[in-house]
Amino acid sequence: MWNKKNRWSLVVFAVIVLLLIGSIFFLWMKANVEVRSIVEEQYQTQQLILTQYVSYSIGELLNERVLLLEVVAQKQQGVPEDLFMSEFETVYEVADIYYVLEFIDVNGTVVSGYPVENVPLGFNLYSNNMTWAFEHVRDTGQVYISEPVSTMEGIFGAYAWVPVFENGQFRGSILGIVSDENIIKQFETTSDSSNYVYIVNDKGMILYDQSATYEKGTNYLDHTDKNDTDRLHILDAQMRGMMGNGKYWQETPDGSEYVLVSYSPVNWYNQRWSVGLTSPGDAVDDIILSVYVKLFTVAAVSVLFILFVSSQVYIILLNWNKTLEREVEKKTRELQESNESLTAVNIKLKELDGLKNEFLSMVSHELKTPLTAMKTSSEFLLEDRCDPAVRNQLLALIVRNVDRQARLVDDLLDISRIESNRMKFNMEPVSLQEVLDHSIENIHRLSESKGVALGVDIPRSLPAVLADRDKLIQIFVNLLNNAVKFTQRAGSVTVLAQESGDNIEVIVSDTGIGIDPSHAEHIFDKFYQIDSTSTRTAGGCGLGLAITKGLVEGMNGSIRVESEPGIGSRFIVTLKKAGI
Ligand code: ADP
Repeated sequence: MWNKKNRWSLVVFAVIVLLLIGSIFFLWMKANVEVRSIVEEQYQTQQLILTQYVSYSIGELLNERVLLLEVVAQKQQGVPEDLFMSEFETVYEVADIYYVLEFIDVNGTVVSGYPVENVPLGFNLYSNNMTWAFEHVRDTGQVYISEPVSTMEGIFGAYAWVPVFENGQFRGSILGIVSDENIIKQFETTSDSSNYVYIVNDKGMILYDQSATYEKGTNYLDHTDKNDTDRLHILDAQMRGMMGNGKYWQETPDGSEYVLVSYSPVNWYNQRWSVGLTSPGDAVDDIILSVYVKLFTVAAVSVLFILFVSSQVYIILLNWNKTLEREVEKKTRELQESNESLTAVNIKLKELDGLKNEFLSMVSHELKTPLTAMKTSSEFLLEDRCDPAVRNQLLALIVRNVDRQARLVDDLLDISRIESNRMKFNMEPVSLQEVLDHSIENIHRLSESKGVALGVDIPRSLPAVLADRDKLIQIFVNLLNNAVKFTQRAGSVTVLAQESGDNIEVIVSDTGIGIDPSHAEHIFDKFYQIDSTSTRTAGGCGLGLAITKGLVEGMNGSIRVESEPGIGSRFIVTLKKAGI
């Protein structure tokens, strides 16, 4: 099955498949680079949205909580009897971010506050040189938020100063200390060390670090390598209150990994902070990996599909090839067969050609012999010297030869009519007795002269046959003529007739030379003579039996021969009974 041709086509096929798979992998690798940047961009966009949400929420919270203090400070009745104590309690509970709320009177002394345990009552700013913010709000009339610091109360927080005026007169300041713990608890988030939130202010001071890497109050810039431009760039943008994404490389015990950062500003009165949200590059890698896995699955399925389809196509082509080969073999066989039959036809044609030549020479001979006899006789007669007896003999010879030629021409005309189906049959009920009598009478002279006995045995009750009377006579004259012709002196020729169902069989038998079985099947062919030399002596040119057969069959009958060389021959003619 795996011949050389098939092996080559398999190699070509394998190369095509490999090229196909190779190009798919190439395109896949190329797509990966793009996929990576797209996924990273998408990831950072999402992260930035989250950061914006966190920063916005923190900003809202802080501003809203300080606004509560502003509302308290702007009460119509001015400083109430209880020095804001009841409002402080309410705001403290509602706001939930203050460590303490205090009221500092115009002299800079803490005069009230809530919760009481956190209030340093009587503490005076002037005596402790802590008047800057107090005087600032007094002079500007604006809320002021101090930079977050570790306070004397022992917490890390920012001071919110809200001035109180009564009829345009400065009456003191409300002070709310916001602890970072309290802010953060509002945004309780879980984090692992790689994904965390941090907050810096506009000077780079770390206000909150969820990863607990850096201490609060320290400056991020101090922790950052001056050559780490990526990280410095991010920090710079944060300090300038911008919003955006960035990434930087970070050393880890296992080497280095890159960190994705999104940042968004928080504006809280005069304070400008920035929330940063970090994720490790691995997060993107994980997503990309899952994308890769999907892509690889698709690619693998595609490759398998291509392999499957290609193998199917290959099998179809192989089968097609085989079918073609089989078809070609079949056609070749058919061609050989038709070639053989052509050769056979050619041989037959050559045979026919030989027969034709034989026929021509035979016909010429048959025509020439009587002509020669007639010419010689005529010349004798012309000389007018012969006596009357000789003259009569010569004239009889001429007449015999004319008859012989006329018979030959009649035979030729008959065979041509039979073959072209132009022979007319005048079918009628015919008495076999009468026909055979007539035929025997016709042959009588010849049999007598040859010394061959003629006998007829026909039952009187034999029914008539459906036939053309004259043609029937022609048939039996022919058969009897042959029988006598091929029977030696003292032999005999007999005609028998018998019923056989709807038919009547007439058997012309002789005790003549017989016919060899190898010739028996050919003797009904036209121009066929077993021994042309003897035939020629006996006259005839091989047309007699062909005409006989044509006439018998033209009358819906049949003819066959049974013979044994040296014993004799039996020609059996089967005819239809009349009136059936
Ligand atoms: P022809 O007219 O030359 O006799 P036929 O067609 O009548 O031709 O006969 C064909 C050949 O069949 C003869 O040449 C002869 O050899 C053979 N044949 C015909 N009848 C007989 C017979 N009764 N006995 C032996 N041979 C016969």
